Amino acid sequence: MTTQELLAYDREHIWHPYTSMINPLPVYPVKRANGVILELEDGRQLVDGMSSWWAAIHGYNHPHINAAIERQLKEMSHVMFGGITHRPAVELAKKLITITPEGLERVFFCDSGSVAVEVAIKMALQYQNARGKHEKNQLLTIRSGYHGDTWHTMSVCDPEGGMHTIWNGRLPIHHFVDAPKVLFGEEWKPSDLDQMRQTLELHHQRIGAIILEPIVQGAGGMRFYSPEYLKGVKSLCEEFDVLLIADEIATGFGRSGKLFACEWADITPDIMCLGKAITGGYMSFAATLATVEVAETISKGNPSVFMHGPTFMGNPLACAAANASLELVLEHSPLPKVAAIEAQLKRELAPAREFDSVADVRVLGAIGVIEMKEPVVMADIQRRFVEEGIWVRPFGKLVYVMPPFVISEDELSRLTSGLVKVVGECRSE
Ligand SMILES: *Cc1c(COP(=O)(O)O)cnc(C)c1O
Repeated sequence: MTTQELLAYDREHIWHPYTSMINPLPVYPVKRANGVILELEDGRQLVDGMSSWWAAIHGYNHPHINAAIERQLKEMSHVMFGGITHRPAVELAKKLITITPEGLERVFFCDSGSVAVEVAIKMALQYQNARGKHEKNQLLTIRSGYHGDTWHTMSVCDPEGGMHTIWNGRLPIHHFVDAPKVLFGEEWKPSDLDQMRQTLELHHQRIGAIILEPIVQGAGGMRFYSPEYLKGVKSLCEEFDVLLIADEIATGFGRSGKLFACEWADITPDIMCLGKAITGGYMSFAATLATVEVAETISKGNPSVFMHGPTFMGNPLACAAANASLELVLEHSPLPKVAAIEAQLKRELAPAREFDSVADVRVLGAIGVIEMKEPVVMADIQRRFVEEGIWVRPFGKLVYVMPPFVISEDELSRLTSGLVKVVGECRSE
């Protein structure tokens, strides 16, 4: 197949994320990826600004993770997890329990981020059931959130601006409060929690859990909010007998400048979802961690088992990749590098503030966001980024980068200068 034939076949037959099968936007054929470089079929090299959606924190084709997967492949690539256990899973559980906030000591392995959120919701509701609180079967969340594409996770995504608006009216109804107004780094105002408190006062008898993304709201708006808000939510959860589910699928493993974003507020949630970067971006895998209290209450209930068990649970190859990725994190903390990326992004994205078409520029950890006044024209801006030798994939008004942590200062400058140049070409009405 020539590249042209490959693209033609793809266009005709293959769905990509959120695409049309009649009039799909162009896709770019990647041949290989190494470090922070994506190489296209025609040999062009792009500096990766996306880490394949928060995941490839150590870059691509990393010798340590490659070697771990090759070793595991020769032992076994998969074996069922029902009635069987294996070293890669046990070692991974131990590492996750060690590095996540104190108190999360029970681990459920699953296949993807959305499933990790489904599992967290089931855990929370099964926990409330086991305590005889059957009526506590609703969730409370903040607007501008994103928790996945499966049916129940969609119901806690932003109901208006989010990706799942068409399902309104058919999804389970939950409680929404406004997204936090006090942003990261701004002076805290306790009134920011008023709506959350009022909603809990009115509905706590029906609410089993609050679910949110700690500090960084990702695909629902790329917003960074005050750690005081998260602290406040945690104490409201205690006051109103509601569990806290922290969805760290995007933020986990250093992206926000702390290993886990919950650390900004120094809290431990009752349930935590991990995914995306857990395998260093090598394969789909996720985990839902819970406190002993949640796990044991479920196990004393009726049914006395947690009702979930995916076919590929605890997949050994994915566990081996995750173990190798976490070894890199543990041996050599990524946080100093993330801080350096943050400083450079702040410096080098600042000029975009001057453009008429730009509404806001914000940076936290290894995440840089340029918010436009108008939605970008995806096919055009994507082509311009590729012409500039960078890989950036905006959505709506949000043009953002979250590069692999291994990016060099020069590569990051190539990324930011291309980004600022292309954004500068966008005209505002
Ligand atoms: C990406 C994401 C998910 C969904 O993960 P998938 O692996 O795409 O199913 C859930 N929550 C957050 C915060 C995410 O960023």
